[in-house]
Amino acid sequence: MTPERYAKIRRVLSHRQPTLTVLMDEVNKPHNLSAIVRTCDAVGVLEAHAVPPRGGQMASFEGQTYEATSGSAHKWVPVRAHADTLDAVRGLQAQGFQVLATHLSQRSVDYRELDYTRPTCVLLGAEKWGVSDEAAAAADHNIIIPMFGMVQSLNVSVAAATILFEAQRQRLAAGMYAAPQLSPEALDRLAFEWAYP
Ligand code: SAM
Repeated sequence: MTPERYAKIRRVLSHRQPTLTVLMDEVNKPHNLSAIVRTCDAVGVLEAHAVPPRGGQMASFEGQTYEATSGSAHKWVPVRAHADTLDAVRGLQAQGFQVLATHLSQRSVDYRELDYTRPTCVLLGAEKWGVSDEAAAAADHNIIIPMFGMVQSLNVSVAAATILFEAQRQRLAAGMYAAPQLSPEALDRLAFEWAYP
């Protein structure tokens, strides 16, 4: 471990945003999951959440290899697996996160209308069927990226990047990357774990 590498680890951790995350609800294509994790790393998400696709193995999911599209991002953004989407949504809300379901409904708003400086989890749906009506109903808000084309939806990783970079824009403006959001103890612990895995 060179001093430069250790300094880079501390610099990256000083930009991590423990109050920004995603919940991937049965996103089943590994390249989409990998691309989302890579975007999470870029905007400073500390850890991501996922409900494995139906029939998927919980045990193998967390350790799944994302190398194809994530670069090495999977090493720096752990993905916590949950057995059930509604339980995961309620658990994150109990921790103080507003859950924003990417879902077209009567109460959907343009994703840019919301405040991403609040503790926020973006709920992303499966490629085939999207976010379930139950999870969307349990979410604090439903958001959409307005579209004016012939095709009705974006690729899930593109939607994730669009929304997460809006969160980054708002958080930059609010000074949330200027000072560490992690406690000094958590930053020291993670720096040690990243340096000596
Ligand atoms: N047939 C699915 C449906 O009805 O929702 C399409 C799912 S889309 C391919 C996969 C995921 O990408 C969605 O669940 C959502 O998370 C995200 N997504 C795609 N387009 C979006 C948009 N315009 N606004 C917000 N999220 C979008």
